[in-house]
Amino acid sequence: MQRIDLSGRVALITGASRGIGLAIAQRLAAAGATVVLNARTIDEEIIATFDGPQAQVFVLPGDVGEPEAVGQLIKTIFSRHKRLDILVNNAGIMRPAPIGMISDDDIAQTLDTNLAGVIHLIQSASRLMARSGGSIVNVSSVVGAKGAAGQLVYAASKAGIIGATLAASKELAQKGIRVNAVAPGYIDTDMTAKLGDEVRVQTLKSIGLGRAGTAEDVADAVLFLASDLSRYVTGQILGVDGGMVI
Ligand code: NAP
Repeated sequence: MQRIDLSGRVALITGASRGIGLAIAQRLAAAGATVVLNARTIDEEIIATFDGPQAQVFVLPGDVGEPEAVGQLIKTIFSRHKRLDILVNNAGIMRPAPIGMISDDDIAQTLDTNLAGVIHLIQSASRLMARSGGSIVNVSSVVGAKGAAGQLVYAASKAGIIGATLAASKELAQKGIRVNAVAPGYIDTDMTAKLGDEVRVQTLKSIGLGRAGTAEDVADAVLFLASDLSRYVTGQILGVDGGMVI
């Protein structure tokens, strides 16, 4: 079997303190990449959870919704590693609310984190990646393509990620930078736990493969898009949803 080898590559994963982002970081590190973990709050102790004596893991806290923090993140990566090969825009928040009950703060925080943060990171990271090419993987959602009641702002942010992925893939291909997205379905993490058991039971009925996804299910798809196995793939939105959307 062909082994995925990311040794010598530097990867930034946002929202990597738990859930899908942490699983992605662990997969990329296991493939040999140097991984930089970001979240607003992230403890250095997380480094000990990575397998292997060779694992190169760095922690860089920062809020992706703040443009200055994004600039600082990329500057620090440049000064420490001099390169960036893989960017996984995974950080995201979801604040469900019925239409009429959505606060201005919900709108601003969700769009700043989930969408503006992705745009700022693509902009800053692609300058660094332009030296030797790279792979950007954005984390959208089935909700971005299909919508969901109570998720007006979240759905808009995740749909925006699809548009941003397509536009960036067209513009950055000439620099050797591939841009793709994954669109997870229902994945068991802290984010979906907040939706409650009733939503979980209802949602499971719509999943062809008959189970909720795991963070590792998404991480394996991201590993493919981050690696050279997908060297001729760009501008694609890969559903990781167990057949929720066909
Ligand atoms: P999660 O368990 O809530 O983890 C979210 C991560 O993002 C945490 O590490 C969090 O750390 C970080 N984060 C939040 N706001 C941030 C900010 N402003 N700056 C930097 N980091 C921030 O969620 P998850 O389920 O793993 O979701 C990961 C991604 O997958 C999200 O984009 C989500 O929308 C997407 N997704 C999830 C599902 C699902 O079913 N779980 C389905 C489709 C798409 P801090 O709070 O410490 O910052």
